[in-house]
Amino acid sequence: MRHLVVVLGDQLNRDSSAFDDFDPAADRVWMAERKGESEHVWSHKARSALFLAAMRHFAAGLDADEVPLTYTRLADAGPDDLVELLASQLQDLKPRRLVMVRPGEHRLREGIKAVAKACGVDYVERPDRHFLVSTDDFGQWAKGKTQLRMELFYRWMRQRHAILLDDNGQPVGGKWNYDSDNRGSFGRQGPGWVPRPLAFAPDAMTQEAIDDVASTFPAHPGELGAFDWPVTRDQAQDALLDFLDKRLPAFGHWQDAMWTGETWLYHARLSTCMNLRLLSPMEVIEGALERFKEGKVSLSSIEGFIRQILGWREFVRGVYWLAPERLLGSNALHADAALPDFYWTGDTDMNCMKEVIGQTLRTGYAHHIQRLMVTGNFALLLGVTPTLIHEWYLAIYVDAVEWVEAPNTLGMSQFADGGRMVSKPYAASGRYIDRMSNYCTGCRYKPGDAVGDAACPFTTLYWDFLERHRARFWHHPRAALQWRSLERLSADQTEAIQEQARRLRAQWATR
Ligand code: FAD
Ligand code: SF4
Repeated sequence: MRHLVVVLGDQLNRDSSAFDDFDPAADRVWMAERKGESEHVWSHKARSALFLAAMRHFAAGLDADEVPLTYTRLADAGPDDLVELLASQLQDLKPRRLVMVRPGEHRLREGIKAVAKACGVDYVERPDRHFLVSTDDFGQWAKGKTQLRMELFYRWMRQRHAILLDDNGQPVGGKWNYDSDNRGSFGRQGPGWVPRPLAFAPDAMTQEAIDDVASTFPAHPGELGAFDWPVTRDQAQDALLDFLDKRLPAFGHWQDAMWTGETWLYHARLSTCMNLRLLSPMEVIEGALERFKEGKVSLSSIEGFIRQILGWREFVRGVYWLAPERLLGSNALHADAALPDFYWTGDTDMNCMKEVIGQTLRTGYAHHIQRLMVTGNFALLLGVTPTLIHEWYLAIYVDAVEWVEAPNTLGMSQFADGGRMVSKPYAASGRYIDRMSNYCTGCRYKPGDAVGDAACPFTTLYWDFLERHRARFWHHPRAALQWRSLERLSADQTEAIQEQARRLRAQWATR
């Protein structure tokens, strides 16, 4: 055999460079479902089902085109570990080269490279056309910068790809960023009617994947009853059109808002499609730009949306591959608390956490602000050990792949990298959640109270967090203003807050 083309569960793209010179007479595709991939972090059942269903549909397409394929299913014999299975099959298949695009996890990439070497097979990593900047070019952009700022990267990407620029190469509308228009909250009246995203009822193949996951991982977190994710390229294209036509126009303004029972609001629900490579980021951007040119979407909405994909998505990937091991081992704030059990069950009397975690367990989804300012913010304020909260995010979201999850969790949300990726910690009290949602209305706590029976744990822990990290941020150019609010507290108030925070910590440490 000439080439064994390895296709992982998040590489489901026939236009990938891994297939560039594929010769069915000399080459073979290799795909595998292994228990270990759902167990190295305790994966949500819907996350495992999504990967399996999408892989099986992709493999069926290869079969239909008579592409030679070695496909190992979950129940098939062999090692549970994907890399060990590959090692054993390389001995039998004896290809000259193992060809693939870069895996989405440092762990897998190193493992695959090592088995190829051990088996005497050349490991060939082809350029990854899915992303809009290569890791090398990102490395060049980042070179010499001690702090990496998404906003500067995003402007560079807008210029490189000539997106939303006028004839003079300046940003359309005169501003690069309309973030200040993208922070609307619904107010007391709530969001009103919101168009439902297109749902994809499981076909027989998806249902079989769901059943396999249910029987193989019965104790894993999450539910499967609401599974309606797109799992094929056709479905992903339908999901894209549905978003562009029905939700994109309102996306920007309501991007940060949250509301009880409203899981999707105006969000795209396209991260899974892109992360599995059923859609390319450029086709998503082009579809959005078309709606803008047709006058169907405002500049602030389209800019806000494109920033997420051309900016954040590419930026976090670049950051991850600069130094994955350093990122994964980072803990700049010396956080060492346990992850409270309620992260896995939603069983808490904090209404915002109950809503967001409950929705996550039902669907495998939460939108960005729910992840950043509710579950992430709480872990930051409590001081949860970064690896524990990283493993939770990697396990619990259907769109979780390490290249995108780890920088978002460790860099953006937990400030574990010490500020390499964001200028200050995303720390907020219960008042922020009260402003952006209606969660506090149904809660036994009061978002403004830091001490006493009704004190909101976010608010207590927020002030305690500021106090604990006073020395680090008091003179910080971007954070000092926030930290100086500590001056409003008397010594007695500070002591009472710290005492209440100690009690909260003790309560969750023993659960
Ligand atoms: P929308 O809100 O509609 O946004 C549109 C698209 O923009 C998304 O589909 C996504 O591709 C992209 N995008 C937006 N924000 C980001 C971002 N910060 N980083 C990368 N891409 C972004 N996203 C993942 O795809 N996988 C993850 O494992 C993941 N983990 C996260 C963990 C934390 C702690 C945080 C704060 C964010 C995480 N994100 C992750 C980013 C973001 O929350 C999701 O991409 C988004 O919620 C997916 O839903 P959507 O498709 O409806 O996105
Ligand atoms: Fe969450 Fe505090 Fe509001 Fe309750 S009061 S919902 S705990 S922010």
